Amino acid sequence: MNKGKSAITVAYGDGIGPEIMAATLEILEKGGARLDIETIEIGERVYLSGNTAGISAEAWESLRRTRVFLKAPITTPQGGGYKSLNVTVRKTLGLFANVRPCVSYAPFVDTRHPNMDLVIIRENEEDLYAGIEHRQTSQVYQCLKLITRPGCEKIIRYGFEYARRHNRRKVTCFTKDNIMKMTDGLFHKVFDEVAAEYPDIENEHWIVDIGSAKLSDTPGDFDVIVLPNLYGDILSDVAAQIAGSVGLAGSANIGDNIAMFEAIHGSAPNIAGRNEANPSGLLHGAIMMLVHLNQTKAAETIHNAWLKTIEDGIHTADIFKKGLSRKAAGTREFAAAVIERLGEKPNRLKAVSYSAGNAKLPQPVFAAETNGRAKKEKKEMVGVDIFLDWKAGSPNDLGNLLEQIEGDGVKLQMITNRGVKVYPDGFPETFCTDHWRCRFVARNGDKIVRHPQIIDLLGRVNDLGLDFIKMETLCEFDGEKGYSLGQGQ
Ligand code: NAD
Repeated sequence: MNKGKSAITVAYGDGIGPEIMAATLEILEKGGARLDIETIEIGERVYLSGNTAGISAEAWESLRRTRVFLKAPITTPQGGGYKSLNVTVRKTLGLFANVRPCVSYAPFVDTRHPNMDLVIIRENEEDLYAGIEHRQTSQVYQCLKLITRPGCEKIIRYGFEYARRHNRRKVTCFTKDNIMKMTDGLFHKVFDEVAAEYPDIENEHWIVDIGSAKLSDTPGDFDVIVLPNLYGDILSDVAAQIAGSVGLAGSANIGDNIAMFEAIHGSAPNIAGRNEANPSGLLHGAIMMLVHLNQTKAAETIHNAWLKTIEDGIHTADIFKKGLSRKAAGTREFAAAVIERLGEKPNRLKAVSYSAGNAKLPQPVFAAETNGRAKKEKKEMVGVDIFLDWKAGSPNDLGNLLEQIEGDGVKLQMITNRGVKVYPDGFPETFCTDHWRCRFVARNGDKIVRHPQIIDLLGRVNDLGLDFIKMETLCEFDGEKGYSLGQGQ
């Protein structure tokens, strides 16, 4: 490493990536950032060269060496089963927290929400992004939504630590726990537990649908919002767009030892190669990177020059508005305008100051339980759900068939189709697919079901000529049900 410089890994990405990265790096250099850059290639070309992960072993080595990654957006080829490299990098390197500030710059950038200054803290490793998907029958596809207690604790605690460090007054949580009582329910429960440890910070929870409506209508009411992966992905684009443009917001992906900085938007292939893209999102990611690297003076100089450029009405096409903007700028001209203003501060927008030391993103903090010392609970298996691919008749036909294989301490309790109970006493109106969940529980008197009983039961299902596609055990944890009831059960 060069003396006095911080080693970072840079990827130019796809689509508009190379243009906005070149603009960003030029601003960083002229703004006094001291960087020793290793460049790696990731993304579309790597995928299409036959590397299905989209990243080479040498690129991983660079990331693990420098531990700081400035990444332009990349294109995930559609179809072909390619996994998103963004998700791979975030999860492989344990970058659990995605921090996305969304700020409006009224009256200089057109927005209906002039008082918007919020930070979305998105969980980055779990939820439907576990990427575990299966086609189970000819009609039915499944994606597993995984929410873990350590995952919730890490991200929610990070949200409160962020709020405390940045003098934010409130942390809001969005979930859909009225429907997903176990997965989103856990996120909400852990939010309440962690919130109690931060009495100095206000907290609130909204169901994600009405919460999103309020966020889009009155974003000024929000401060820090912590949320599971998918909701965070969607709502950070919404928040950035209503602040002015999706092209404005940057993001930091934080892990225990490694951090990645990027724009929140994608590779925008529709405007690639046209010198049209706004480099501000990536530049904001890069400014967060400089703060992370303790290069706060350069971060402050560059951010203030950027604010002055916006205030002077020099705008890329995504935020250009007649009467409001003074000069339409391409990517390169916008970067040159920022460079020209290095050393200046905005007059009307609030200048930033990173020297106070509280601008740094917090380090991850873990509670004892998150570190793997989960509290001991009594786990008892009380039944099993067996999923079948079956097209041969009605719910009653299937129920009658399965009752033939009861015995050995287990009995059929119910059958559901897409989660709705259809046997016994189903409704003829309920639409049924070829995907059946058949719940077996212990016979009266017994409570516990053991693995050999399940293996025998699956053998009897097979003997009936039925196609089982998966099974899930039903467990109680300290007597509390670890599974949901059927709809209508
Ligand atoms: P996108 O964010 O690339 O583009 C959405 C819209 O916003 C487009 O109209 C685009 O022109 C505009 N836009 C985006 N960034 C802009 C900028 N800097 N300046 C001006 N306008 C901008 O979303 P998409 O079209 O859904 O996705 C395109 C590709 O990007 C896909 O392959 C997707 O997988 C990928 N993607 C990558 C990342 C990442 O690398 N972190 C994130 C999201 C999407």
